[in-house]
Amino acid sequence: MLEKPVNEAPLADVTPPRLEIRNLHRSFEGRAVVDDVSLRVMPGQVTCLLGPSGCGKSTTLRMIAGVEMQDSGQIFVDGKLICDTVFRVPPERREIGLMFQDFALFPHLSVADNVAYGLKGSKADKRARVEELLVRVDLLRFIDGYPHQLSGGEQQRVALARALAPKPRIMLMDEPFSGLDNRLRDGIRDETLAILKEEDTAVLLVTHEPDEAMRMADEIALMRDGKIVQQGAPYNVYTRPIDRASVAFFSDAN
Ligand code: ADP
Ligand code: MG
Repeated sequence: MLEKPVNEAPLADVTPPRLEIRNLHRSFEGRAVVDDVSLRVMPGQVTCLLGPSGCGKSTTLRMIAGVEMQDSGQIFVDGKLICDTVFRVPPERREIGLMFQDFALFPHLSVADNVAYGLKGSKADKRARVEELLVRVDLLRFIDGYPHQLSGGEQQRVALARALAPKPRIMLMDEPFSGLDNRLRDGIRDETLAILKEEDTAVLLVTHEPDEAMRMADEIALMRDGKIVQQGAPYNVYTRPIDRASVAFFSDAN
């Protein structure tokens, strides 16, 4: 008879989330802006923090990036604690890529130097990684160009390449497409998604636009007044809003 191994859980059961936040809390002037927020993002997945302006999305992202300190709660990456109220890994060692609407390219640096900005290593290694990424975002022809020679959508793709260059474990994106022309936006969203999936990073995308969340997310966390009020697959969140305020949010946005 075959012997059955005991106490061996299948590998899938022990894979920790790439990013996990537990009971994150932040107040400003006595007002809770982020109120007991918990979230998980698995590798290769896009989780979208969706909610109206002012509900606390950017503050949540800033705490994960490490540029804002929480009052209480913990942040874990691959199951390891990176921040609570006594222990804190500094932002530059969190292996987190950032893409913000106003996170502009450096105008005085070439496209290649913009993408290479956060990279370490030999000149040849850096150049190879820059070329690889510019091929991926389909902008290799602009490698020696400058930001002002590119369209808004092209600049956004360079910003994506720059954020991905150091191979971040997690990508935080705060309304990254809201500065773009309507005509360009859908195409760029789809391209960005394809690139992020290839790189297998975990993405936390912040937006106030239900359309964007529906198009890009594997999971939506709906936020209101500092709290996550509903979480689930996009279709479920959209078709079964949890209360009147959520119905209003989805219909106002259209
Ligand atoms: P969102 O990104 O969802 O629009 P934010 O996280 O930027 O929301 O802001 C949530 C609330 O917290 C807003 O009311 C904002 O004015 C307030 N807030 C954010 N940062 C600060 C700060 N440094 N000091 C005081 N209030 C702040
Ligand atoms: Mg914001």
